[in-house]
Amino acid sequence: MSVFTPGRRYQPPFMPFKRQPFKKRLLAKIELAVKGPLFGCRMCGNCLLAETALICPMECPKGLRNGPCGGSTPEKCYVDESRPCIWYKIYERSFQLGREALLLEVLPPMDWEKAGNDSWGGIIDNAKQIGVRTIISRLASGKPDSISSTMDSILRPVRQPEWWQGDSEYHAPKYTEPVSELEKRLKAGEFVVTAEISPPLSVNTDKLHKNINLLKNYATALNFTDNASAVPRMSSVACSKIAIDLGAEPVMQISAREKTRVGLQSDVIGASALGVRNFLCLTGDSMMMSPGPKGRMDVVDIDSIQMLWILRRLRDEAKYLDGREIKNPPQYFLGAAATPFASNMKFQALREQKKVNAGAQFFQTNVVFDADDLDNWLNEIAKREILDKVYILIGISPIRSFKMAKYMRDKIPGIFVPDVVMKRMEIADQKGNAEEEGIQIALELIEKIKTKQGVNGVHIMAVGWEEAVPRIVEEASLQNHQAIMR
Ligand code: SF4
Repeated sequence: MSVFTPGRRYQPPFMPFKRQPFKKRLLAKIELAVKGPLFGCRMCGNCLLAETALICPMECPKGLRNGPCGGSTPEKCYVDESRPCIWYKIYERSFQLGREALLLEVLPPMDWEKAGNDSWGGIIDNAKQIGVRTIISRLASGKPDSISSTMDSILRPVRQPEWWQGDSEYHAPKYTEPVSELEKRLKAGEFVVTAEISPPLSVNTDKLHKNINLLKNYATALNFTDNASAVPRMSSVACSKIAIDLGAEPVMQISAREKTRVGLQSDVIGASALGVRNFLCLTGDSMMMSPGPKGRMDVVDIDSIQMLWILRRLRDEAKYLDGREIKNPPQYFLGAAATPFASNMKFQALREQKKVNAGAQFFQTNVVFDADDLDNWLNEIAKREILDKVYILIGISPIRSFKMAKYMRDKIPGIFVPDVVMKRMEIADQKGNAEEEGIQIALELIEKIKTKQGVNGVHIMAVGWEEAVPRIVEEASLQNHQAIMR
C-alpha cells in the first residue's frame, strides 16, 4: 500500500520496451524504489504527480490522465469496484489544498518509448540547464511566485513534451463560418434537437435506413454511437456516410477505447473526406462492460480530452500529433460528453472546462431526469465562465418500462433517476401504461429545460425506440426549428 495514493492495490510497473544503458536502468530502479512505496508509481516515464496532488493517476483502470470519466463516483471506480475512483480522490485532495487550477492543464498521452524508464533523468537535465545555484537562490528567496515558477521550469518539460505543449488556456476555433448545419443553427441561437440512433448489429441496413428517414426531419443532426457498452456494431463512420447519402447530417461518435493515436487521426481525416462535419469525442465504456472475452481493460492509448486536443490542433494548427504539417486540414465541429450527475458537480464542471479548453465546442450531456438539480450543474459551469464558449444539449431519454428505469438507475454510470420518476414509472407499468408515462416525463423535462439559460437544445436518446422521437419533438413544439431543406 502506498503512502500518498489512497486505496491503491499493487499494480506492476511498466517495463521498458528496449534494453537501456546501465546508468538509466540504475536510475529507474532507484526511482521505482522511492516512488513505488510512496505513490504506487508504475513508471509511466512522464510523471504528472506535481499536477495531481501527489496521487498517481496511473491507478485509473481506463488509463485516464486528464480527469475522471463520466462514471466516476465518490465511493468506487465503476470499472473495478474494489478500488476507489482515483480521479475522484485527486480532485478531492486538489480542492482541499487549493490546487484545483493545476488540474486544468491538458496532459499528454503516454510516450510509450519512455514507459518503464525514469522521469528523474529529465528533471536532473532541466535543473542542470537552469543552474543549481540559480535554483537554490530562487527557492531560498521564500517568494511563492519565484519558487513555483522555478519548480515549473524544472518539471514542465518532463510532463509537457515538445510534441504536446498542453496548457490550461481556452483556444478559440480558428475559423468563423459554421462548418455544419448543427453549428450553423446553434450559432444562430436556435433551440436544437439531435437524436441518437444505434448502429445495426449486422450488415443489414434496413432498420438503419428506416430510422434515418424517420428522424431526419425531426432532428438537426443524428448521432451514431461507436460500439456502446463495448459491443461491436456497424461502425459509426459507415452509419454516418449512409446518413449523408440519405440527406441527414451525422454526428459521428468516436470512443477512445478503440482508438490508438494513429487510428484516431486517420479515421477523422477519412470521415471528413466522406463529408462528416460533426465529431463527438468520448472516452467510451470500459471493456469491462463487453460480453467478453475481455480485451485489455487497463490501457487506453488516449482519453477524450487528449482526443479533443489532438483534433483541434489538426484542424486549427494544421498539425498532426507528431508535429508534421498537414496540407488541407479537415474542418469539423467538435463535441464532447458532459455528465452533470456523476460524482460531484464542482468536479464535473472543472472537467467540462478542461474539455472546452482542449477543443469542445458543444456538449451532449448524459441522460437527465432532474431538471431542477440541473440548475446546480449549470451554475457550476457558469462559475467556470464557459457558457459563452460551448453549446449545451441536454440528454433526454424516454423510458419505456419500469425495468428500463431500474436498469438506468442501477447499472448506467453517471445517471441519476429521482424517486419520483421511479414511482411514476412503477405505477404506470402496473397499469400497462409505461410507454405513455415515459413520453410524458420526457415532455415535462423538455418543457423545463427549454427555459434554462445556457441550454441550447436537447439530445434525444431513444435507445431502440426511435419511433417515439417524432412525437416528442412535435408535442414539445420543436419541429419547426429542426426542419432542414434537405
Ligand atoms: S505519474 Fe507516472 S511516473 Fe509519476 S508516479 Fe505515476 S506512474 Fe510514476
